[in-house]
Amino acid sequence: MVLFSRDLRVHDHPALASAVRDADAIVPLFVFDDAIVSSDFARPNRMSFLVASLMDLKKSLEGMGGDLIVRRGNVVDEAMRVMHEAAASAIYVSSDVSAYAGSRERRLANACRESSRELKTWPGVTVVPAGAITPAGGDHFKVFSPYWRRWQEWERRAMLAVPKRISVPSAVGPGAVPPSGELVGGEVSPELVPGGETEGRRRAEEWLEGEVAGYEADHDNLPGDATSRLSPYLHFGCLSPLELAEHASSKRSAGAFVRQLCWRDFYHQVYAATPDLARRDYRPRGDRWGSAGRALERWKQGRTGFPIVDAGMRQLLREGWMHNRARLITASFLTKDLYIDWRLGARHFWDLLVDGDMANNAGNWQWVAGTGNDTRPNRIFNPIRQAHRFDPDGHYVRRYVPELRHIPGRRVHEPWKLGPEREGVDYPEPMVDHGDAAAAFRAKRAAV
Ligand SMILES: Cc1cc2nc3c(=O)[nH]c(=O)nc-3n(C[C@H](O)[C@H](O)[C@H](O)COP(=O)(O)OP(=O)(O)OC[C@H]3O[C@@H](n4cnc5c(N)ncnc54)[C@H](O)[C@@H]3O)c2cc1C
Repeated sequence: MVLFSRDLRVHDHPALASAVRDADAIVPLFVFDDAIVSSDFARPNRMSFLVASLMDLKKSLEGMGGDLIVRRGNVVDEAMRVMHEAAASAIYVSSDVSAYAGSRERRLANACRESSRELKTWPGVTVVPAGAITPAGGDHFKVFSPYWRRWQEWERRAMLAVPKRISVPSAVGPGAVPPSGELVGGEVSPELVPGGETEGRRRAEEWLEGEVAGYEADHDNLPGDATSRLSPYLHFGCLSPLELAEHASSKRSAGAFVRQLCWRDFYHQVYAATPDLARRDYRPRGDRWGSAGRALERWKQGRTGFPIVDAGMRQLLREGWMHNRARLITASFLTKDLYIDWRLGARHFWDLLVDGDMANNAGNWQWVAGTGNDTRPNRIFNPIRQAHRFDPDGHYVRRYVPELRHIPGRRVHEPWKLGPEREGVDYPEPMVDHGDAAAAFRAKRAAV
């Protein structure tokens, strides 16, 4: 049995390829785990992407003569039940980094032991498995640069081919992939990307053939939108991170992009070693964050009065995704200008991001808040300077803040300076003075 989780692909899938090599017949299984589906971890954007990815996986497996078996319930109970029906002797899973994934593996291992079966874990969720490289005397790297050096030297495993044929025991009924609306309530963002390995591979190919060449120069250019947008496909494992890194590494111009894939691995190994990364400050700074209330709501709705911040927040609402530069600006604004707890911001991102990923989300939020792996914890992004630098003509703001669409050029970044063009426009005054807010933040940090 191959128990899929967030490794929803058939290309370069170590657990799947090994199962096909080791057995005449295999059971590809996905369980909608009640512990996740019924919790507030399940959100419409990711659920919709997940369902589309499962449909695509099912189609690929059918094309090989197999199928995807789908169940809902307690993941361990369901896996054991299907194993019993199929008389399967071993279960293969891709090892993952969260505390929950760890406990799932342990529970599966115990259940297997009790019924004289075997659990085998495989890599595939990251390029370099978490914990495979460690610093002298430590269980994980706390700083990126030395990790990046070792990551590049690490000898990667060979890429694995797609299985040619799969045979699934007929004793097991397939079950069906339910529509995402049956699993979780709430609205899906109107411009969400389609899920699935087929779509992910198409996008990755296009990216590696074209735009990746300009990535180093343009990745911060907000209106240019010149990043890969592959994050949801990586999060759900529709793409093999190792395959992507291998293909990108063969292109001379893709170094900066490969480095970002390493950041993903970096936060995964931090998270594996720090299971409470999403809750506890990695490096506490003695913060006593202010109460949230209405200010948090204005930030969430993109009504702060700072167009560049509002554009980012509204991109998130519209697409379930946000450009990395905008993530940095909006997160800095929340934690430094409003001095609101990074956990509340991370929670909102988590609710909407289609690529919402515990390791990357918590790791990056802590980095911006200055409680994480950052060497400059008191850095504050000036939203106006960031706007002029990364959206010099205001195109990004006008794309996402329609009420300012009629204001030409860079003047759109400081609407409070405008004269009659502002009249009748339903756009708020800035909720803070950035200079004052920055000074207040520095004073609070200095006081500890
Ligand atoms: C506050 C904040 C929250 C974030 N939350 C998430 C999250 O929940 N999920 C998530 O995948 N990324 C998160 N990121 C990291 C980054 O913003 C996204 O990975 C990136 O914007 C995705 O767009 P892309 O695929 O076009 O990235 P590209 O620039 O094309 O990069 C390629 C891939 O590298 C990885 N990557 C890039 N930047 C980072 C980074 N800083 N940290 C870790 N991995 C990175 C991603 O998997 C990405 O798909 C967050 C960043 C910030 C500042």
